[in-house]
Amino acid sequence: MTDSLLSDFLYALMYAVILGIPVALYLRSLKHREAKARAAAEKGKLHSSGPQAQHPHIDLEWCIGCQLCTTVCPEGDVLAMLGGKAVLVNGYKCIGHSLCAEVCPVGAITMVRATPSMGADMPVMSDEYETSVENMFIIGELGGLALIKNAVNQGRECVDTIQGRLQADGVSSRAQGVYDVVIVGAGPAGIAASLRAIQNKMNYLTLEQDELGGTVAKYPRQKLVMTSPVEFPMYGKFKKTELSKENLLAFWKQVMDRADFKVHTGEKVDDISKGEDGLFTITTPKGRYRGLAIILALGRTGTPRKLGVKGEQLAKVMYRLIEADHYVNKKILVVGGGDSAIEAAMGLGHQHGNTVTLSYRKESFSRIKERNATRIEECMRTGKVKVVFNSNPLEITPDSVVLEVNGQQHQIPNDYVWVFAGGIPPNDFLKKIGIGFGKRDMTVEASNEAKQAAQAARQLVQA
Ligand SMILES: Cc1cc2nc3c(=O)[nH]c(=O)nc-3n(C[C@H](O)[C@H](O)[C@H](O)COP(=O)(O)OP(=O)(O)OC[C@H]3O[C@@H](n4cnc5c(N)ncnc54)[C@H](O)[C@@H]3O)c2cc1C
Repeated sequence: MTDSLLSDFLYALMYAVILGIPVALYLRSLKHREAKARAAAEKGKLHSSGPQAQHPHIDLEWCIGCQLCTTVCPEGDVLAMLGGKAVLVNGYKCIGHSLCAEVCPVGAITMVRATPSMGADMPVMSDEYETSVENMFIIGELGGLALIKNAVNQGRECVDTIQGRLQADGVSSRAQGVYDVVIVGAGPAGIAASLRAIQNKMNYLTLEQDELGGTVAKYPRQKLVMTSPVEFPMYGKFKKTELSKENLLAFWKQVMDRADFKVHTGEKVDDISKGEDGLFTITTPKGRYRGLAIILALGRTGTPRKLGVKGEQLAKVMYRLIEADHYVNKKILVVGGGDSAIEAAMGLGHQHGNTVTLSYRKESFSRIKERNATRIEECMRTGKVKVVFNSNPLEITPDSVVLEVNGQQHQIPNDYVWVFAGGIPPNDFLKKIGIGFGKRDMTVEASNEAKQAAQAARQLVQA
């Protein structure tokens, strides 16, 4: 071999190595990611579930396999890449951040609400959040979409829809002595709707059975709230993504005070009826009001689900934990297997002298945030929380609890019990006031915003 041939060969070899190594590494990481995705998909299947409420719907014809959607999700492996396309592998973990839809450069992802199977338990709603009763709307978590930012967006959009209709009809409610809109519930959805009504100079009434802030006001003290930038009425873009519950409530209060927001707190709506003139009559224990449109922002967690066991009526049994540090040197049982139960057990387990047992009826946790899964494992390892899977409380006495574990009964000493078995959605109330329930087409029922964003992205790609 001549010198020049040898040097050509060495150069070719060098380029092959320089180019080949990254390609080989990329292919290896692709293989690794696919294997991980398949494992995640299997895990998802194992936990049965599929999406429980809102989740991304991927148009595979449009997906270009860029992977952005799989990297932005704060909940971990909801989506994964399989065969070069994004697929939903752990739909049950989705809690509606919608970041996947926002980052998708070709608009292949839209957020959709309930699955058909659980859709039967959901009120029928149009894309404008209108129920089967004309001019009666549902926003926020009651409509099946969790998260504060979704509640705020829907509150804003819904009030704009109502104002548009009033303007189109040339209706002036002030002349008739009725409200343009009556908003029921003052959690994030009801607050945003009320502030938008103020901004739109509408004649509104807000009724809240409890206190301002809804579920957020009942989070544990100093809970870190994760949120996304959102257009907040009477304020503008709220850009924070992480802040304490107290700071979020203080921010809302500041905006509400500045807007001179009026709300009737401690006033529960018992009934709503619609007259032949199309006007609604809203009945509470304190009065009757009339409105042209109704926004129901009731949330889904109002009434805590009970265990139905003997002794549950004792004052030591609670369904909400706000101040974990008020409990020290106590023997505590927490019941449940979701994020709320786990966060409460960990919060109590970190207080001085507490012995905390967490009872869960299943054999493992399946629907909890990645972060909580890691933290509870650490608490189990360090003895801060004792987790008893496959267990059910049978009876609660003033100083003990009887737990059934794998068919055997165990009596354990106890000072307090917290039950986190979810909330009972106000479906009976909704049915009573005439709202229809039924299945919804999950593939077409994307939120207005998501649909518009998807359409805009597609137009861009086509252009
Ligand atoms: C423990 C926990 C942690 C969470 N963490 C986060 C988080 O970090 N980030 C995030 O974005 N989301 C989080 N969420 C979800 C978020 O809190 C909810 O999605 C959001 O509060 C829903 O807002 P909403 O206004 O629809 O309902 P809610 O906040 O539930 O408010 C509904 C209001 O309606 C009132 N109401 C009900 N019935 C009546 C009636 N008949 N008459 C008058 N008033 C009535 C209730 O009293 C309540 O105040 C969390 C939820 C929980 C349970």
